[in-house]
Amino acid sequence: MSPVVNLAAGAVPPSPHRTLLDEGSRVLEEADPALAALLDRELAQQSSTLAMVASSSVADPSVLAAAGAVLGNVTAEGYPGARYHPGSGAFDEVERLAEERARAAFGARYANVQPHSCSSANLSVLTSLLPPGGVLLGLGLDSGGHLTHGSAASVTGHWFRAVPYGLDDHGRIDYAEVLRLARAHRPGVVVAGASAYPRRIDFARFRAVADDVGAYLVADISHIAGLVAAGEHPSPVDLAHVTTTSTYKQLGGPRGGLILIGAEHRATGPDGRTTLAELMRRAVFPRSQGTPNPAAIAAKARALGMLRTESARWTARLVVENAEALAEGLIRRGREVLTGGTDNHMVVLDLRPAGLSGLVAERALEECGILANRNTIPGDTRPALVTSGLRLGTNVLAQRGMGPAEMARCVELIDRVLTGVISVDDTTHALDPHIRRSVRDEVRQLCARFPLPGYPAPALRTGSEVSL
Ligand SMILES: *Cc1c(COP(=O)(O)O)cnc(C)c1O
Repeated sequence: MSPVVNLAAGAVPPSPHRTLLDEGSRVLEEADPALAALLDRELAQQSSTLAMVASSSVADPSVLAAAGAVLGNVTAEGYPGARYHPGSGAFDEVERLAEERARAAFGARYANVQPHSCSSANLSVLTSLLPPGGVLLGLGLDSGGHLTHGSAASVTGHWFRAVPYGLDDHGRIDYAEVLRLARAHRPGVVVAGASAYPRRIDFARFRAVADDVGAYLVADISHIAGLVAAGEHPSPVDLAHVTTTSTYKQLGGPRGGLILIGAEHRATGPDGRTTLAELMRRAVFPRSQGTPNPAAIAAKARALGMLRTESARWTARLVVENAEALAEGLIRRGREVLTGGTDNHMVVLDLRPAGLSGLVAERALEECGILANRNTIPGDTRPALVTSGLRLGTNVLAQRGMGPAEMARCVELIDRVLTGVISVDDTTHALDPHIRRSVRDEVRQLCARFPLPGYPAPALRTGSEVSL
């Protein structure tokens, strides 16, 4: 059939941009087969493994396409309508679209879509709200906080006087301690947010603490942004002075960060004059970043646009239901689940009763096609690269459409590996090849039944001859 007949039948001709991306993929395959093969291998791995890394989600193919958009060629410092370079007409519209969708998704009044990551967003925010040596109160790294919340391993632990708060005996944020520490140390910024915390965060209580001592409250929702957007976790956007998030953890977006402001957009910064919205605008550019990444911003626009669909809300609900099912199942099998359960997408296991390090558990599971990362847990005595915990997440499993019934299968598989693995020491293990083969096969079958949304279904091969 000629293309003319196709058109007459209603087929849409490929757009010039699609033709460009298709051509790029074709040339890559021909001119650089080694690189192209690695990309195929990565796709095969993602398709045929159970990604339970709590900080991951899967980007829709259209988000990947936007991230590879021709906008990548645009160099334009500044903001829409106020660039320092010519030729940014389409990019201005793309950035405005991304800002508008970010505001709509989170009910925010101000959105900055330029941060290259949430770490850089946090640096921009903190360095504009706090003077050098200012006091920063954040959840300690060992308690599940993030590096950028004042850890000694991060520049935030050096530029600021970081005071960590921790958890109570039940593994929950100790709000009484937060208030006590705030009154004792008079922080300029209180950070509410976590990287390994399976429970709901009470942002209103954090705001009350911040108000008690006249501090700014920064909420970092990197891990739970998808739940917040879907209403499955209370939103901090109108409670905090500033909210930050990464765009790839639960938003199905590209690598990148966002800065949001809700009700406080007209409140002023430390100089008493500049509004927080204006302060955040300057905080990213020119204070801490140069050119934005226009293609990443296009991908953010696409991912943010997909958040307000019924399907996104359904997935967010399933994320939480799955995590609950996972926690319950693991507890039923005698596993030590921190805080005894979860309110979000995350389940954290204490492996000490099992006599396993986080590293050994992570490696044994990876051999079987289950990806979950080792994690420091409260009171951990093992080094940060070894740890005594394992962090599991349900974002990608829910995106694949798996539900509580499949979580029961996952619990069984995880338990089979953790029971079967022989820990020689904290960094060395042995796993019975029979267990490896049987779990790997079941993982593959599950993945074939629940392909990544919009991705080609993985070929169902059995037997351990197929390496990861
Ligand atoms: C992952 C994470 C970050 C950093 O995000 P990147 O985009 O990877 O830099 C910041 N804060 C929290 C709470 C996180 O979990």
